[in-house]
Amino acid sequence: MKFIIATHNMKKQAEMQRILSPLGIEVVTAEMVGKELTDVEETGKTFEENAVLKAESGCRESGFPCIADDSGLAVDFLGGEPGVYSARYSGEHGNDEANIQKLLKNLENVPDENRTARFVCMVCVCFPDGKKLVVDGKCEGRIGFEKHGENGFGYDPVFMVGEKSFAELTAEEKDRISHRGNALRKLAQMLPEYLK
Ligand code: IMP
Repeated sequence: MKFIIATHNMKKQAEMQRILSPLGIEVVTAEMVGKELTDVEETGKTFEENAVLKAESGCRESGFPCIADDSGLAVDFLGGEPGVYSARYSGEHGNDEANIQKLLKNLENVPDENRTARFVCMVCVCFPDGKKLVVDGKCEGRIGFEKHGENGFGYDPVFMVGEKSFAELTAEEKDRISHRGNALRKLAQMLPEYLK
């Protein structure tokens, strides 16, 4: 079975493919099956609303089951910010460096014990018959005082799990504990029963 993924982010496509392929699911982009999806504006107030918006729209436009995720970082000291605004925290969508600098500035002089945070991910799969499945995943950590490591994307260099940042982990090490990995594993557990 093919799932269309509602993203242009090839890292997400690869990650979803790694986790769902044992179930016989092929995760492909719309372009790979000759379709084009409209970029959905993420107008939802929650990760769930945005994931559902993207999956529903991708399914409607392609006619295939569509999988979408919405994720972000919630920092306790900042009352859950940047949250659904994670990608555009600095004002410029997708500027990882500016987002990290704003986050570090807002946590200046905040001691380690108050720098707790979590990555959150909601994944939605929408089927052409109108059914949908929504699962969530989390990963607890803290925001470091400076950047560490070169791997990954987004806030990875400042998201510390134990002594290492996400950017110091290999892709496989990150998958094993990440919010997206946890959500996708939940989905993989639920799907066989669901697809019967
Ligand atoms: P979206 O789910 O593609 O809308 O991503 C939201 C934003 O959250 C990204 O642009 C990143 O800034 C941040 N984010 C989500 N997941 C991760 C992750 O695994 N590592 C680092 N940053 C992430």
